[in-house]
Amino acid sequence: MTLEQEKNPWLAAEVRFDNAAAKLGLDDGMRKVLKSPAREMTVHIPVQLDDGRLEVFTGYRVQHSIARGPGKGGIRYAPDVSIDEVRALASWMTWKCAVVNIPYGGAKGGVICNPALMSDGELERLTRRYTAGIMDMIGPDRDIPAPDMNTNAQVMAWIMDTYSMRMGSATTAVVTGKPMELGGSLGRQEATGRGCMLVTLEALSRFGLKPEDSKVVIQGFGNVGGMAARLMAKRGFRIIAIVEYDGAVYNANGLDIEALMAHRKETGSINEFEGGEAMDKREAMFLPCDVLVPAATENVITSENAGKLNCRILCEGANGPTTAVADGILAEKGIFVIPDILANAGGVTVSYFEWVQDRQGYFWNEGLVNSRLEEIMVRSFADVANWGEKRKVDNRTAAYMLALDRVASAIRLRGIYA
Ligand code: NAD
Repeated sequence: MTLEQEKNPWLAAEVRFDNAAAKLGLDDGMRKVLKSPAREMTVHIPVQLDDGRLEVFTGYRVQHSIARGPGKGGIRYAPDVSIDEVRALASWMTWKCAVVNIPYGGAKGGVICNPALMSDGELERLTRRYTAGIMDMIGPDRDIPAPDMNTNAQVMAWIMDTYSMRMGSATTAVVTGKPMELGGSLGRQEATGRGCMLVTLEALSRFGLKPEDSKVVIQGFGNVGGMAARLMAKRGFRIIAIVEYDGAVYNANGLDIEALMAHRKETGSINEFEGGEAMDKREAMFLPCDVLVPAATENVITSENAGKLNCRILCEGANGPTTAVADGILAEKGIFVIPDILANAGGVTVSYFEWVQDRQGYFWNEGLVNSRLEEIMVRSFADVANWGEKRKVDNRTAAYMLALDRVASAIRLRGIYA
């Protein structure tokens, strides 16, 4: 397999699905059902541009599974969105929601556009017309979108408003990741990073390690990596390196994360931070450490570099940071992997809390959000680790097996409607 092929995320998803399905002994029929998206919609979206021209954009919404509950998954705006990508990401959501056992299926949406070249007005018109196009698919009981690449709380507010105007009532639970004023949840911003920290704490205790004795390297200092760094540092972990796309910063005694955040805010980069030394960003990934958190982007751990990793625990904050070929190398090295569908599921879990609060019309304080998140992450970690130990499979295989088993059970119990 070439490196290019190895990096194909859809191939990786398929390899992991097939491996888990075989180990579960799923029959061909159930495999077909689990692999096929339940519903797909393509919409062509006419938008009046600011200069008066009319442009037509293409958008998709795919519900991979609605067996365990309504579809759940983000909407991305990007020039290279494709239906295949949206399908694969929707299935990823099905497994993620099943691993943490929240009552959702999996869905995803996307619009082929370049938001960097569009004005706010154009983006708003695009969003509203896309929402009108997928109106019959979404809804608090059907499918609940959320932000993804290049979409944010404002885009969610436009979707919520368009849906609400069509329904004739304010329907906040149709999307999550909304602004606080429109039924957003406290704790959502840091939920994914908090989830990473919580599962890392669980993994540490299996090694008899304490946070204060643990050295951490984090790749990506954005929403997930930045929040994970902040929360881990507060919990006593020593964050020895932060790796960004344009450099890395290292301090053997532990970086002052709040100071690094302030520096990045001021200068736009982590480089030239006085509280640490500059380091080659590739080498920083191979520093000896207890925990490595890839929280930037996909395919950063491949057959080419997995052998050089020097960590005990790999906590996958990003989606798909490890290729399927690299999985084997990590297993040989005895690295304890907390797979992405578990490690970064804190985000979708607090999205679920947002939806619950919107439906109740009763909002929780941040302490309650965080304690309920902790309960789910700790329980899910134990579910995956116990499944793996019992069946002698690695954590990733265990997480996929657990997820496939939960979705397959729901399908069997419901029976096939005919
Ligand atoms: P983000 O854009 O806020 O942050 C990503 C950071 O990584 C940026 O600071 C960027 O400069 C850096 N980066 C990008 N490419 C890099 C590279 N090659 N090397 C080093 N640094 C690099 O994005 P995010 O929301 O933190 O998401 C990060 C990952 O986590 C993505 O894979 C995303 O799909 C996944 N994820 C995010 C959430 C969430 O709630 N935000 C939930 C689940 C999964």
